[in-house]
Amino acid sequence: MSATPDEAARALADGALILLPTETVYGLGADAGNAEAVAAIFAAKGRPRFNPLISHVADAEAAARIGAFDATAHALAQAFWPGPLTLVTPIRDASHVCDLARAGLDSVAIRVPAHPTARAVLAAFGGPVVAPSANRSGRPSPTTFADAVEETGFAVAAAVDGGDCQVGLESTVVSVLDGQTALLRPGAVTRDQIESVVGPLAGGGQGHRSPGRLALHYAPDAPVRIEATAARAGEILLGFGPGVGDPRWSLSPSGDPAQAAANLFRLLREADRQRPAGIAVSPVPQTGLGEAINDRLRRAAGFVG
Ligand code: AMP
Ligand code: MG
Repeated sequence: MSATPDEAARALADGALILLPTETVYGLGADAGNAEAVAAIFAAKGRPRFNPLISHVADAEAAARIGAFDATAHALAQAFWPGPLTLVTPIRDASHVCDLARAGLDSVAIRVPAHPTARAVLAAFGGPVVAPSANRSGRPSPTTFADAVEETGFAVAAAVDGGDCQVGLESTVVSVLDGQTALLRPGAVTRDQIESVVGPLAGGGQGHRSPGRLALHYAPDAPVRIEATAARAGEILLGFGPGVGDPRWSLSPSGDPAQAAANLFRLLREADRQRPAGIAVSPVPQTGLGEAINDRLRRAAGFVG
């Protein structure tokens, strides 16, 4: 059932789409330089074309051929690659990342993933691979092979099973543009970790730099209610911390944000399959990974506070 990394690399070279496991979430992958293949990703996901894609490469050297890395970008790459960090830099060489992949911007988003299977596919293919989350646009990202196949398996020539995603949330996106470093999307690499390398991040006002950060996103069919203290009639409560709700539906019984991140999208999907009146979610502290969890939950609930 699962394709090998070599089969996936051949499918990419043929201009087909693949399901690619990464440590963050499952990706729907295509050759970043093939505009037709990239267009097929937007079509399969129903993704608006103003929302640019991340190019995945095998190592920092390949990244620095595509993007213009200043000292800050190099320091971040050195500290967090391979891993769940995406860097947005000025485009340096667009010959292998088509305009559509960048939504026409003069910047490019690049990541070196850590998942060994993702790295094997990238090494075998040899060029940048765009791989947005393998869900249809607006829905929770798939973090298991079965969920990825259910979402967009219809669109791919090769589906690679890499097991359950260990991080469970999309990458942290940091822009390094015009001498300013800004957090465009929180993720598993936390704000504190980034600031420990580059110092204080630029404040707000960078939203325009990151098209595609929609207010309603990552959402199951059932309405999501956040900061809930108890389930209301017909709701499933996703608890956080000891003794909160049914342990089967707990994001983390011990109150561990990393465990909650790894479970979040899988439990949102599982709860949704029960067709509840709603999905209530306990408060998750804003510290560490909590910033990324709360970002996704606010969007799943339909507002950005
Ligand atoms: P994903 O939806 O996980 O594929 O992540 C892609 C996100 O990365 C987009 O929604 C943007 O927020 C951000 N992004 C990608 N490319 C760029 C870019 N060139 N400039 C700014 N943000 C970008
Ligand atoms: Mg996504």
